[in-house]
Amino acid sequence: MDEIALIRTCVEEAGFHCLCCSACCSGDNNEVMVSPPEIQTIMDAVDLAWNEIVEPYPEWITETDARITFGWVIRRSADSNCIFLKNNRCTIYQNRPHICRTYPFMLDDTEFIISECPGCKAKEKTKDAEEITKDLLRRRDAEDEEFSLTQKQYQKHSIISGSTIVFDSRGAHLITIPPEKL
Ligand code: SF4
Ligand code: SF4
Repeated sequence: MDEIALIRTCVEEAGFHCLCCSACCSGDNNEVMVSPPEIQTIMDAVDLAWNEIVEPYPEWITETDARITFGWVIRRSADSNCIFLKNNRCTIYQNRPHICRTYPFMLDDTEFIISECPGCKAKEKTKDAEEITKDLLRRRDAEDEEFSLTQKQYQKHSIISGSTIVFDSRGAHLITIPPEKL
């Protein structure tokens, strides 16, 4: 069986039928990572600026007295919901990022992973397995590209001591607000 057929079978057998419970759009541990192209797509769709949509990915490393992270996550409101969740619905549904299109599935290289989701394990096979499989492959390609370009940006920029920096595929972004206040 080739890889695409294998992934499609895994998706089908998961018995996934979304219950629209919004559990994957809320909670402190549900970080929705988004790449610069995805942020741009959202900016084009809604009247919000970059910093109103995302904040730095909240895992920091320290290097030569600088605090560094790699990437962005969609901001959450005070109740820990994604800022785009309104009345239990995604207000950017047509422009939602890869991670949301493919939840609860993901590919880690060739490994097929299912995240926690009450919509899984139904007796019936997953509907739209073909489309979900295509989305999963698109997501993996996009994530691989984002990772590779981000690494290049990290290697080519010198780190300013004492600074706070977000690296992504487009460059090194100096952040003026301390991470704990973001
Ligand atoms: S994907 Fe799962 S967790 Fe997310 S809304 Fe659907 S059933 Fe709920
Ligand atoms: S962008 Fe939409 S689908 Fe993704 S977490 Fe936010 S509300 Fe949910």
